[in-house]
Amino acid sequence: MQALDLSAITQADIDACQAIAAEAGVNLKDCYQCGKCTAGCPLADGMDLMPREVIRFLQLGALDVVLNAKTPWICAQCVVCSSRCPQNVDICSTMRAVRLASKRAGKRPLPEADIFDDEFIANVRAHGVSNEQYLAAAYNVKSGHLMQDAENAVRMLARNMVGVAMHNIEGRDEVAALIDRAQAADEARHAQSETPEGGDE
Ligand code: SF4
Ligand code: SF4
Repeated sequence: MQALDLSAITQADIDACQAIAAEAGVNLKDCYQCGKCTAGCPLADGMDLMPREVIRFLQLGALDVVLNAKTPWICAQCVVCSSRCPQNVDICSTMRAVRLASKRAGKRPLPEADIFDDEFIANVRAHGVSNEQYLAAAYNVKSGHLMQDAENAVRMLARNMVGVAMHNIEGRDEVAALIDRAQAADEARHAQSETPEGGDE
C-alpha cells in the first residue's frame, strides 16, 4: 500500500468518500481488511490498488488516491469480491461508485476504459445490441489507437466471423429506455448519497 499523508486529508475528503460508499450501499466500517476480496479478484494482477486497498483508502478519506486509481476502471464488475466478503461489503458496487465519482470529478485515470464504456452504451442504445465491428472502429478513432486489432479485423472479415451489416433488434427502443432508467437510477443514488442522511455515520 502506498504511503499516505494523513494530515492532508480534509473533512470534505472524508465526507466525499462516505458519499461514494453510500452510493454503493456500503458501510465502510464493516470492512476489517481480511483481504478475501483481493484474493478472489481475477484482475488483481493488473490493478494499481487492490480491491481491499480501495476500501481502506475510502475508510481513511483518501479521496485523491481513490479517484486517481486505475483499479475501478479495470474492474470487470464480476461480483466475485462481493460474494466472498464475510462482511457483505459490496466491493463491486463500490468500484462502480468510485468510477462514477472519478468521472464526475473529470479524472478518468484510464481514459480508454471510459471511451470504450461510452461507445458500448451508445452502440447498444442505438441498436439494441452491440455491433462489435462498429464499436471497435468507434473506439479506435476516439482513443487514437487507429490500427488496434486491424490485423485481426481483416482475418475475421475474411472468415465471415464479423460482417459489415449493422444489426438492429426489434425491441431496441425498450433497450434504450432500460439504459435511460439505469442511468437515472445512478443519478438518483448519487443525489441521495450526498444528503447528510445518505452517509454511513
Ligand atoms: S473481503 Fe470484505 S471485509 Fe475483507 S477486506 Fe474485502 S471488503 Fe473488507
Ligand atoms: S468485481 Fe471487480 S474488483 Fe471485484 S472481483 Fe470482479 S474484477 Fe475484481
